Amino acid sequence: MKNIFIKIFLLFIVMAPPLASTAAEDISFDGNLTQGGLVIGAVPTGTKIKLSGENVAVAKNGTFIIGFGRDAAPQVSLEINYPDGREELHTLLIASREYDIQHIDGLPQRKVTPNPEDIARIKADNYKIGEVRVTISELTDFLSGFDWPVTGPISGVFGSQRILNGNPKNPHNGVDVAAPKGSIIRAPASGIVALVHQDMFYTGKTMMINHGLGLSTVYAHMDSISVNPGQIVKKGDPIGTVGNTGRTTGPHLHWGMTWKTTHLDPELVVPPMPKINNIAD
Ligand SMILES: [Zn+2]
Repeated sequence: MKNIFIKIFLLFIVMAPPLASTAAEDISFDGNLTQGGLVIGAVPTGTKIKLSGENVAVAKNGTFIIGFGRDAAPQVSLEINYPDGREELHTLLIASREYDIQHIDGLPQRKVTPNPEDIARIKADNYKIGEVRVTISELTDFLSGFDWPVTGPISGVFGSQRILNGNPKNPHNGVDVAAPKGSIIRAPASGIVALVHQDMFYTGKTMMINHGLGLSTVYAHMDSISVNPGQIVKKGDPIGTVGNTGRTTGPHLHWGMTWKTTHLDPELVVPPMPKINNIAD
């Protein structure tokens, strides 16, 4: 299922028959109708959209995005209200996935069972990250598509159930790429640097990019960050280097992607990892 960008048309049930017969041409979307998947769509300017009853931001040019979490239901509803008054209800079928169980041992115990002081710090970190995730900007910088921010062996996939030092924890909400400390990390798509933090409890040196319409990406465990909050980055710009900061057992990039608060699988939006990697550089 991975890395298949499929074109989807006409996968809907029209509840209120449109007056005109052009309804099928008024919406188009590309992406992965699967758990962890991102879908980018287009509708006429002024259209209103709801996903499972929740409003979806639509840019002035009619672009919108929707995403499906790790445990998304097999069916979700997409309600479209066109500016001319027509209404459609699409039922999207979301493919389910199987997730691995990943054991990671050798972590400092305090990073697995934090003390009360650490918990206060984790809450403050999560608040800052959460603020970026719910920011809806008019940017549509994701339209250029995404590249890997760094290449190397994939050491952790999206959605795995994690057992850390023998303790069951939350699922892994991004993709891990192993690379030597100091490897350059590049912006996988354009956007605005929305957060730079030098020392988060779990994620160490952390930065985030806002790509627009509620889509943001996070880069964790970095060794250095070479951008500043508010800075515009273009796809391919260096943003920092791979490190071993926060809760890690070795140098790697944790790359996360969210649509508002829903974690998505970044691996679904990039080409396959190149075979030649920089592990031996
Ligand atoms: Zn990770």
